[in-house]
Amino acid sequence: MPGVEIKSVVIVGGGTAGWMCAAALAKVMGPRLSITVVESDEIGIVGVGEATIPAINLFNQMLRLDEDDFLRNTHGTFKLGIEFANWYERGHSYMHSFGTVGKDLAYIPFHHYWLHEHLLGRGGSLWDYSLDYQAARQNRFTRMAQIEGTPLPGITYAFHFDASLYAAYLRRYAQQQGVRRVEGMVVEVLLDPASGDVQKLRLKDGRELSGELYVDCSGFRGLLIEQALTTGYEDWTRWLPCDRALAVPSERVSPLTPYTRSTAQDAGWQWRIPLQHRTGNGHVYSSAHMSDEQAHERLLQNLDSKPLAEARPIRFTTGRRRLLWNRNVVSMGLASGFLEPLESTAIHLIQMTIHRLVLLFPDRGDNSRRRDEFNQSSAAEYEYLRDFIILHYYANNRVGEPFWDDCRHMSVPDSLTHKIELFRETGGIFVAAQDLFQLPSWLQVMWGQGIKPRAAHPFVETVSPQDRADYLKGIRDLMADAARKLPLHEEFINGHCRSSAAVTPAARAG
Ligand SMILES: Cc1cc2nc3c(=O)[nH]c(=O)nc-3n(C[C@H](O)[C@H](O)[C@H](O)COP(=O)(O)OP(=O)(O)OC[C@H]3O[C@@H](n4cnc5c(N)ncnc54)[C@H](O)[C@@H]3O)c2cc1C
Repeated sequence: MPGVEIKSVVIVGGGTAGWMCAAALAKVMGPRLSITVVESDEIGIVGVGEATIPAINLFNQMLRLDEDDFLRNTHGTFKLGIEFANWYERGHSYMHSFGTVGKDLAYIPFHHYWLHEHLLGRGGSLWDYSLDYQAARQNRFTRMAQIEGTPLPGITYAFHFDASLYAAYLRRYAQQQGVRRVEGMVVEVLLDPASGDVQKLRLKDGRELSGELYVDCSGFRGLLIEQALTTGYEDWTRWLPCDRALAVPSERVSPLTPYTRSTAQDAGWQWRIPLQHRTGNGHVYSSAHMSDEQAHERLLQNLDSKPLAEARPIRFTTGRRRLLWNRNVVSMGLASGFLEPLESTAIHLIQMTIHRLVLLFPDRGDNSRRRDEFNQSSAAEYEYLRDFIILHYYANNRVGEPFWDDCRHMSVPDSLTHKIELFRETGGIFVAAQDLFQLPSWLQVMWGQGIKPRAAHPFVETVSPQDRADYLKGIRDLMADAARKLPLHEEFINGHCRSSAAVTPAARAG
């Protein structure tokens, strides 16, 4: 029945995806929609996923979360970017910092002015023009919308947090908004013989659950979208060969760095995520290039503090479901696909999928047009992020190392080749307004991965050499001065959102 509202949704899974979806739907739809989340304590959640990107602020604002309360409860810290160590070549490091780099002038993006100077051996480093980078390198942080007395934007930030606590925090929030939680394991998904839609779910104890729409947040298994509806999966291992991870927490170290570190290894990379009570670490690797034992040994060798538990293995296949919305099932989170956490995009993808679901929310009529739009835009988004992640692997100079040689010689998607070659040829970077990673992100990663344009845009020469030099120096000085005045990250946390579990190395020593 077109125009007749759906009244009930069943969400299968109570990990980050399930509770983000429940919290958002409850907030947006209110009591007109009955929302049930079924989760199984016996199965548990994946429990990793600790780094985010700035767009999460929009989600928090939509829920009207108190940011300090949220960070206190998830033992969270602030994140200003990701350091990529050894990615281009061993001993080399750069940062994908958040926020803008410099300030555009006279119709031409900022980086052309910098590049022009750089090619003449002047103008300092690209990152001298990033406030987030300057703050990150000095372990400083504050909330700041603008650099005082200037039109320049202030600090752009995201968070690191404990993934299990995040799901629990959102669960409390969603339940306060009226979401019903059912504990139990779904053992059978029953389909309507006529339509092929999901009709009801049977739990291990015999109870049954039904709704008009089902959201599959059941993790890698894709209980509804794959096991019941056999939607199919597009495998991207040929571009992103890592298929395993080992995750291990270790003791917290000082200073509390306001950024994630990603260190390239022999056949993958290792993450380091600082939280208030511990450091999250993990090694993402290709099982075709490295054994589990080697990966484990390498992970432990590279920890900068004592491990607090045994390393936990996780297997995955990079790619996405052929359809994220199939029949009356919408999938999100790990059930919808997987991109490795190199750019911390998974939670963002969940957030975008929820937003898309709200905008295209089905009714009791024919939903095929909405479904097509949903599936096309979800696929485009996945592919865009995929290309950005491939860039880190492909543009490397680690010659003579089998994994990295394979990555450098792979045939990448045309969309990525176009971006790289256009940048080399013209210095230009073109993105659409709705794309997640905008010009400053592509610029930092392409430059950081050793892709160098032949020349800057010729129009920068319409500004006189002296004015160009003054303009660049003015921005550099402003950034350096603003960063120097910020409080230390740790001080800021202690003053605003210190969690009861925060452990400093000094306190641990006694
Ligand atoms: C190694 C690794 C590192 C990552 N790092 C990041 C990161 O830094 N940043 C980021 O944004 N993302 C990251 N991610 C992704 C992130 O962890 C996930 O996107 C996020 O946790 C969402 O998981 P989920 O809710 O989809 O699945 P899960 O956490 O696996 O939850 C699945 C839920 O389904 C329930 N369930 C399953 N089967 C049944 C059943 N039969 N009956 C009832 N309930 C059932 C489970 O009990 C559970 O509640 C990472 C992922 C991996 C693998």
